Amino acid sequence: MQYRHYGKLGYDVSLLGMGCMRLPRQSDGAVDREAAYEMIRYAVDNGVNYFDTAFGYHSRTSEEVLGEALEGERRKKAIIATKQPFGEMKDQATIRRNLENTLKKLRTDHLDVYLIHGINGGAWPKIKEREVLKEFEKFRDEGLIGAIAFSYHGDYEHFAQILQEYDWGMCQVQHNFLDTDREVTSKGIELAGKLGLALVVMEPLRGGNLGKITKAVQSVYDTANVARSSVEWAFRFVANYPQVSTVLSGMSTLEQLKENIRLFSEPDMTPGNLTSADLEMLKKVKETYEQIVTVPCTGCEYCLPCPQGVAIPTAFDRYNTAMKFENLEPSRRTYMFLTRAGTDATKCVECGACETKCPQEIKIIEQLKLVHETLQGWVER
Ligand code: SF4
Ligand code: SF4
Repeated sequence: MQYRHYGKLGYDVSLLGMGCMRLPRQSDGAVDREAAYEMIRYAVDNGVNYFDTAFGYHSRTSEEVLGEALEGERRKKAIIATKQPFGEMKDQATIRRNLENTLKKLRTDHLDVYLIHGINGGAWPKIKEREVLKEFEKFRDEGLIGAIAFSYHGDYEHFAQILQEYDWGMCQVQHNFLDTDREVTSKGIELAGKLGLALVVMEPLRGGNLGKITKAVQSVYDTANVARSSVEWAFRFVANYPQVSTVLSGMSTLEQLKENIRLFSEPDMTPGNLTSADLEMLKKVKETYEQIVTVPCTGCEYCLPCPQGVAIPTAFDRYNTAMKFENLEPSRRTYMFLTRAGTDATKCVECGACETKCPQEIKIIEQLKLVHETLQGWVER
């Protein structure tokens, strides 16, 4: 396993971090605990020391599952980062109560990193006004948390402002080779490095989408000097930045975990591992993807629950799969299951609640109509 400095915090973290928002699930949607324990323990025993979870992941059960899996000796080897969402921070007492619950669920007496979850430009002034960071500093003085950090979805300008207005220990951002000029952009990655922050990258595969390729995309990959899977190219792109401490991957199977450990243990998975020809090739892959009309949904589920029960990310995933693989039929069939379950796009009453929560600023109402027009009408024979 490759390890990197965690900014100015004085310790090293595994370049592969385990994101605990896509743990294996049972058929009812709940986390398959035995499978998740096996994966988490395998990760620690094979060099992964960075675990990222959050108050809200997996209907608020992710922290608990992680805590159960790590309890005992493995906890001592693991760096745990978790997050409290600003929406749950009603007052100072609630902020403290939320932390206490999190510690209990994680079966630990301290968190290595505590993040404010998903800050955006609009929330930042309110966070300052409510003096949330003073409360976090008290937790740090009491030894309950280590680094104070934030995760962010949004543009470079607000990101730069938030970075420079507080002495953060770490920031966690979305980045991959499709996002060099959106979200925080490559410029944001460089700025975080300049300020000496630990930098954690999430969505290196854009919600798994970079693992799916069309014939057109494959033909660009085929021009590379070396044959690699699309997943490896995407991981190598983020590992190429010297500013990046760890790359989060939300894995759902032991096989994925094993493969990722293998990739992140390659001796040349280092800053500057890509040649200028490799970077040029990835730029062409990006341009090819951009020619395919898709919804830029990462599957983060922040838009859920929809009061009408619309399965928003699932509907977008069906649509994107159809577009990327240039094959409508399988997606039309799986979309029919949403109709049967009463969670398809037609249930949307256009209340707009989801759109304000979407970090990708997707015009969800409009896009759901497009999904329905494209995928409706499958008749099971
Ligand atoms: S706008 Fe539609 S999809 Fe979004 S929350 Fe409202 S009903 Fe649900
Ligand atoms: S629509 Fe937006 S909030 Fe919902 S899952 Fe997709 S990216 Fe996340």
